[in-house]
Amino acid sequence: MKYTEIMIRYGELSTKGKNRRSFIDRLHGNVAKVLQDFPDLRIHPKRDRMHINLNGTDAQAVMDRLQVVFGIQNYSPAVRVAKDLEIIKQTALQMVQEQYDGKQTFKITTKRADHEFAYDTNQINLAVGDYVSDHLPAIKAEMRRPDIKIKIEVRFDGAYLSSKTYPGAGGLPVGTAGKASLMLSGGIDSPIAGYLAMKRGVEVEMIHFYSPPYTSVHALQKAQDLTVRLAQYAGNIQFIQVPFTEIQETIKKQVPEGYLMTVQRRLMLRLADIITKERHGLAIFNGESVGQVASQTLESMVAINDVTNTPIIRPVATMDKTEIIKIAEKIGTFELSIQPFEDCCTIFAPTHPKTKPKLDKAREYEAQLDLKGLIQRAVAGIKVTTITPFDHYLEKENQEISSLL
Ligand code: ATP
Ligand code: MG
Repeated sequence: MKYTEIMIRYGELSTKGKNRRSFIDRLHGNVAKVLQDFPDLRIHPKRDRMHINLNGTDAQAVMDRLQVVFGIQNYSPAVRVAKDLEIIKQTALQMVQEQYDGKQTFKITTKRADHEFAYDTNQINLAVGDYVSDHLPAIKAEMRRPDIKIKIEVRFDGAYLSSKTYPGAGGLPVGTAGKASLMLSGGIDSPIAGYLAMKRGVEVEMIHFYSPPYTSVHALQKAQDLTVRLAQYAGNIQFIQVPFTEIQETIKKQVPEGYLMTVQRRLMLRLADIITKERHGLAIFNGESVGQVASQTLESMVAINDVTNTPIIRPVATMDKTEIIKIAEKIGTFELSIQPFEDCCTIFAPTHPKTKPKLDKAREYEAQLDLKGLIQRAVAGIKVTTITPFDHYLEKENQEISSLL
């Protein structure tokens, strides 16, 4: 079947009352962004759905791209034909034939926006149904649970026929929920936290702490590669790298072993908070999961979260590792996350971190540091890069180079 359109349904978006227009506009922008290299497409964002006029572009190639756009409930490839009952019949038959294996049942459903059209919905259903039965004598019509459904819509500009509906990515269009930071390590969990944040419409900016020379360029590259992968859902993503070496060395020297990790995390969060506010972000996302490791007990969260009132959102807080991995595999971050380049937390991790750190102790040890100076110097070393989903080639090139080393 040579499809001429894709019809996109909005889902949750349609319940958003007054904000509807801005949601549709944002979705339109996001759809246009992922399809920017198909110059012949015409995208028409309407109130109830979005139409993409393919103008000869391959439907499958376009649908593959739509998979990553949040805010799409589902979509159907469709054919637009002239409002002529003979042509509608033939097209419907062709659509049935493409799927028919000799056993399935079918149903024709018609909607009519154009009431001037000479036939009403019942007449169209009957005429098309009879036509299909005449050509495929063994096929049975089934009203309740048909195997093959043909939907006909008679609109003002033509008749649209569709049969298949594919689920979209769901969620809300990225950008409609405002901006926030994601604390991105090179691990498995934080990229998933970022994915889930974007799924709820949040525009995320990555904050990554790195500690050269203790951490290698590969560790930094890994976080950037993960960002490339996540950028397919968002368009461009700002990647903010924060030097953390001096802070970690100082903490290692001055803080008792049991509190190394807690104080380190407090400093990370202090910096993330400063950066987020500076960049007008509204919240901080991270990849913590309750009870997964020592730094992620509820007691630890109390002792770390203490440094800020900014909402800290933990999308994977209640997920099991296996559930997180399942998403990581689905979105293609897992392979990258398991590359063996250690980040700054792993290298400076104490052998016996306190699983139940005390808030007053954490405050006390932290207060002994030259907080102001440490933070100032880290902030002075920040570097921000824009990462695009089209940096794939970079990722590949680097893999090749690193495999030669
Ligand atoms: P992840 O798989 O996301 O690394 P994890 O289970 O390894 O998580 P931790 O290493 O304890 O857990 O980190 C908890 C969270 O702290 C991470 O999910 C991430 O949000 C943040 N974090 C850890 N290391 C870094 C880093 N180098 N830069 C930025 N954020 C970090
Ligand atoms: Mg980690």
